[in-house]
Amino acid sequence: MNAAHHNPIDSGTLAERDLRVLWHPCTQMKDHETLPPIAIKRGAGAWLEGTDGKCYLDAVSSWWVNLFGHANPRINAALCDQVSRLEHVIFAGFTHEPAVRLAEKLVALTPSGLTRCFFADNGSAAVEVAIKMSFHYWRNRGRSGKTRFITLANGYHGETLGALAVGNVELYKELYKPLLMDVLTAPSPDCYFRETGESWEQYSLRQFEHMERMLADHAHEVAAVIVEPLVQCAGGMRMYHPIYLARLREACDRYGVHLIADEIAVGFGRTGTMFACEQAGISPDFMCLSKGLTGGYLPLSAVLTTDDIYAAFYDDYAKLTAFLHSHSYTGNPLACAAALATLDIFADEDVIERNRPKAAYLGAKARELKTHAHVSDVRQCGMIVAVEFVKDKSRREPYAWTERRGRRVYRHALEHGVLLRPIDNVVYFMPPYVVDEAEIDLMVKVAADGIERATCD
Ligand code: PMP
Repeated sequence: MNAAHHNPIDSGTLAERDLRVLWHPCTQMKDHETLPPIAIKRGAGAWLEGTDGKCYLDAVSSWWVNLFGHANPRINAALCDQVSRLEHVIFAGFTHEPAVRLAEKLVALTPSGLTRCFFADNGSAAVEVAIKMSFHYWRNRGRSGKTRFITLANGYHGETLGALAVGNVELYKELYKPLLMDVLTAPSPDCYFRETGESWEQYSLRQFEHMERMLADHAHEVAAVIVEPLVQCAGGMRMYHPIYLARLREACDRYGVHLIADEIAVGFGRTGTMFACEQAGISPDFMCLSKGLTGGYLPLSAVLTTDDIYAAFYDDYAKLTAFLHSHSYTGNPLACAAALATLDIFADEDVIERNRPKAAYLGAKARELKTHAHVSDVRQCGMIVAVEFVKDKSRREPYAWTERRGRRVYRHALEHGVLLRPIDNVVYFMPPYVVDEAEIDLMVKVAADGIERATCD
């Protein structure tokens, strides 16, 4: 008899076994006493299927990564093809076709002036690369006093220590503050807080005045400003007008400060254009990409930057100006192959255009919730739609976070076969682009009922 067969470690349901040995991200593990993790055995299109056969519509694209559905045949085929030839190779001193082709395509697709591609392997790592590169650029140019970063209130850029330091979502940051570099934080252009009668554009312009002052006072010590263009995603899908980015680009040039656009969440069509920066007609000095880059298949990230930045590092070895950053899985060929297949789908299927009516449909459906007694805002930027619910609508008074009302929506949605993952009291939709109208109807209906249930007492 096989001894392993009787080993209690692998007995029980998958969820039970999970809870014996795993520790999940962004989770108070004790919560699983009342709501165990859901074991998924397969995915197809916008759907996930549990080991018990129950299906869930993935309305959040599995943490905003999936673009063209789970188990997409085209991406699957590209991966099978790549894995039969080369799974991985060290990326220092060596190169390979998927990485070269992907870098060529990213340079061609991203806003003009971004001519160099540096690969890393997740979003936070891309942010680390961009902030280190910006600091190091100024040092190589003899400006070693430029060591600080300007960030936006309510911004989020990842959770490794550098990325955490340039973010400002208190939940993630507060506790770890003693470990983090000190940053300058400008108020957010987040239009949720505009006055009655004030347009998004007016409010974003008004908020820009703070940024202008901060740049005027601190440019001499600042390497870069880092922002999430148009949508502060982890900060509750809070949105602002592209005019803010246009003004910021102009001011960064005027003050001699880099602009880092973190398009990790908003890139690849989420905001209605391939990259959010396009809506402001700007090119940043650094653009960070990840998540949708591989269609949601494999971890990969890229930092796109300019000739000028690249040139500041290019010199004889002994000058010691080379950029120092490496991850073992940098430029992984499988991840690059998945990314190439993803970009082929964009090119062949006119995805950005075909998303327009879908976004319009999703937005119109969600806006029906505006009349709900506890819904304070329904906002949209392309394929991202958020519904915010509050305790008191007239005063926009939020529920206390301790009540965890968003979690009630989460549970309700799971019971009804939809994966929604509210951020506090913001229920949002960021679905894979393969969703159809019936699926949109389902996710909005389930969200509406969930909000009703979460606000009825
Ligand atoms: N930047 C933004 C804007 C993000 O939304 C995220 C992830 N939610 C990150 C950075 C970090 O990416 P990762 O989770 O891959 O480290």
